[in-house]
Amino acid sequence: MSNINNQICDVIIIGAGASGLFAAAAADLHAKGAVSYGEGSSFKGLILEKTSRPGTKLLMSGSGQCNITHAGSIKDFTSCYGDKGNKIRSCLYKYSNLSLMEFLEDNGVEVFTREDGKVFPKSMDAHDVLYMLLRRAKKNGFELKCDSEVTEINNIDTDNGPSLWQVVTTDSKGDITVYSAHSVIIATGGCSYPTTGSDGSFFNVLRNDLDIEITELKPSLTPIQVNEYPYAELSGISFESIHTSIWYKDKKIAETCEDLLFTHKDMSGPAVINISKYAQHGGKLRINYLHPLNYEQVLERLKKVFHGAKGSPANIIAAEFDLPKRFCQLFTERHGEGLKNLARNLTGEEFVINSVSGFNKAMATSGGIDLKQVSTSTFEFKEHPGLYAIGEALDVDGITGGYNLQFAYSSAASAIKTIFQNHQL
Ligand SMILES: Cc1cc2nc3c(=O)[nH]c(=O)nc-3n(C[C@H](O)[C@H](O)[C@H](O)COP(=O)(O)OP(=O)(O)OC[C@H]3O[C@@H](n4cnc5c(N)ncnc54)[C@H](O)[C@@H]3O)c2cc1C
Repeated sequence: MSNINNQICDVIIIGAGASGLFAAAAADLHAKGAVSYGEGSSFKGLILEKTSRPGTKLLMSGSGQCNITHAGSIKDFTSCYGDKGNKIRSCLYKYSNLSLMEFLEDNGVEVFTREDGKVFPKSMDAHDVLYMLLRRAKKNGFELKCDSEVTEINNIDTDNGPSLWQVVTTDSKGDITVYSAHSVIIATGGCSYPTTGSDGSFFNVLRNDLDIEITELKPSLTPIQVNEYPYAELSGISFESIHTSIWYKDKKIAETCEDLLFTHKDMSGPAVINISKYAQHGGKLRINYLHPLNYEQVLERLKKVFHGAKGSPANIIAAEFDLPKRFCQLFTERHGEGLKNLARNLTGEEFVINSVSGFNKAMATSGGIDLKQVSTSTFEFKEHPGLYAIGEALDVDGITGGYNLQFAYSSAASAIKTIFQNHQL
């Protein structure tokens, strides 16, 4: 352990993931007509990244293709963040999906909207987004320092003027460096895919050093494991737009209508992944394979189609409801040939939830910095002027479809633009 320096900067961003890089890149400094920003100027911004490279999770997003946002109406976005949606409405409207797409295109990343509304870079390569963000961050006067894990954060009272934030980094050799700035943005992500660097350890630093409250951290956007999973041999079979719901003590706690995928050991696909954060051991996962049909409608059709019909029940059901034959074969073996029983299970097959996959497989983290501590239009801490939190470090998580990267952008733009306005940097 050696080398204690003290470097003073204007803005420090902790974490070079999607949100941290969006903040550095979206600092629209030149728009203000100020000549003193950018490379060679007196402005000094710093991005401190714990790992040896920036944007690792961004590069994994959308299987490397980077589903960066959704092209639907911004009015429909709030419902995609569960009960947090209404709280972040103003930042989503101010820095919307259209604003994000314009930002990308203005900076040379053409975008493409798929049939299902998901937006990607036209190249379908997350590298193009990452390289653009890094280029723009540098142009805006931000220096990136990798292998710089922030291990302490403190507020220093200054006699005159606003208080100063001090952050301490430790590198892989044990060298310590101290940096100070009037504005610090926490962009350290959640706990999912910990090998990317966002392993949740910074939450402990925030608790210990600043008494910041962190809500319960749970894996989100992950497959669900059920007891006595019967469909392992149907791995790869999927269903379009089916209805799934999660029940606990006879109360429905979440539902969605999307695509379902059987894997060799669990249930996956958006129909399961998007409600996985509500899953708990002992709860029930209920599946209606024939949505929007209900029990009565299915029973009536089964009675008609089975009346005088020849052939195996599995084939009859497969043909009548356009379901995969292999599924119907196994389904009838499991549930017999009684029409009422078949109708009940086709419209509401129930499984007891055992567990969800852990943070190693979860695409997002549910929980994080409690939103009550920050302004949800600027993301500045109410009790800590000059300190901001953005992206997945906050207790905000969206469903699949580009909503998490959209929030990374919306919260980042809200924070950095506030900093530049307030401090007239
Ligand atoms: C496999 C996968 C696929 C995904 N696909 C999509 C998708 O297609 N669309 C979408 O919208 N979302 C997707 N997501 C979610 C999305 O990638 C995240 O929500 C987003 O990256 C969060 O950005 P962030 O900056 O808040 O956190 P992160 O991207 O996790 O970045 C946090 C950074 O902070 C660094 N850090 C942590 N602690 C410290 C510290 N103490 N000091 C310094 N640095 C620190 C980390 O090393 C990391 O680089 C996906 C996630 C995964 C795992």
